[in-house]
Amino acid sequence: MDATDLYQEVILDHTKSPRNFERVEGADRDAHGDNPLCGDTLTVYVRTNGDTIEEIGFQAEGCAISKASGSVMTETVEGKSIEEARALVEVFRDLVRGERDQDLGVAELGDLAVFEGVKKFPTRVKCATLAWHTLLAALEDRDEVVTTEA
Ligand code: ZN
Repeated sequence: MDATDLYQEVILDHTKSPRNFERVEGADRDAHGDNPLCGDTLTVYVRTNGDTIEEIGFQAEGCAISKASGSVMTETVEGKSIEEARALVEVFRDLVRGERDQDLGVAELGDLAVFEGVKKFPTRVKCATLAWHTLLAALEDRDEVVTTEA
């Protein structure tokens, strides 16, 4: 199976059955993001315990890539510290923009790594990063709506 097939399979799987696709009970942080370019909207809910992301969920309307990315994002950061999650936002952004060095632990990213395929479709990069920008806003407890156009 080549990288493109794997990319499509992972996107399809996460679109059909998104993980953590729910409002989190007792969430202490949330943020809302918009990608006007494609019409994707997404809300991230986080319940923290000290510096740890104890539970995370999201709700989204939009294209397959934005939903799949939100799903993979929640799976990846749940149980991690806020600092680790912030670092992953950077990794992901570089990955989909094609600015990540292959050697820099992309293999350890699991399902996240397949999103490198997005770099071949520049118009979809914002769909893929929406969930991550919104996560960052939630972690920073910012109130304004995040937009990928910013
Ligand atoms: Zn989209």
